[in-house]
Amino acid sequence: MTLRSAILGAPGAGKGTQAQRVCERLHLAHLSTGDLLRSAVAAGTAAGKQAKSHMDAGRLVPDDVVFRVLFERLDRSTGGFLLDGFPRNRAQAEELDRRLASQRVALDVVVDIEVPDSRLAARLTGRRSCGSCGRSFHLEFFPPAVADVCDDCGGALKHRADDTLAVVGQRLAVYHEQTAPLVDYYERAGILVRVDGDQDVERVTAEVLDALQNDVPERA
Ligand code: AMP
Repeated sequence: MTLRSAILGAPGAGKGTQAQRVCERLHLAHLSTGDLLRSAVAAGTAAGKQAKSHMDAGRLVPDDVVFRVLFERLDRSTGGFLLDGFPRNRAQAEELDRRLASQRVALDVVVDIEVPDSRLAARLTGRRSCGSCGRSFHLEFFPPAVADVCDDCGGALKHRADDTLAVVGQRLAVYHEQTAPLVDYYERAGILVRVDGDQDVERVTAEVLDALQNDVPERA
């Protein structure tokens, strides 16, 4: 079966880490709009130039820019995929539904990684990722063996500009206002599975894998 899936959760809930882990295991394309936008910014493309100021301020990038970078990739993912960081608002969810319906397919399952708000700021500010291979680490919860060096490829670890305390508050506010209502949207569609994200990384991965492989709920 070709699995079409998405992972939801607040910034810092562990979406990216979990998505990397389960995509390797299940051979799914990992489609992270945050990563695609950061690459566009780094490459200086037109989309990147439009996205940068919004990202730096912790605001959502305009939908049309996100659609441009994502749908070009999505159309090339003929196998299964896991969307990470998309959709972020109702308009994006509806556009995704329309886009998939035009290809006579639909999302199979959406996993919501749930972490209490009080834990999110510490999780975000301690986050680091490899500048070469993109692997995620955390200074407190998932530290590299050698400080500032990637365990996998030896690349230098980086601190994202929008993971500072100043921007984190804004990102959490945007999440609650625009993205959290999507949990209800997918629950109504009958395809939502909730996972407790405030557990050991391995345990969360096991539950996400379980949700993706076994627990595809009946469509409403
Ligand atoms: P992330 O890596 O998912 O935390 O995304 C980092 C930043 O990229 C966000 O704070 C937004 O500025 C932007 N971004 C990522 N995905 C989206 C999306 N689906 N819609 C709008 N902006 C996005």
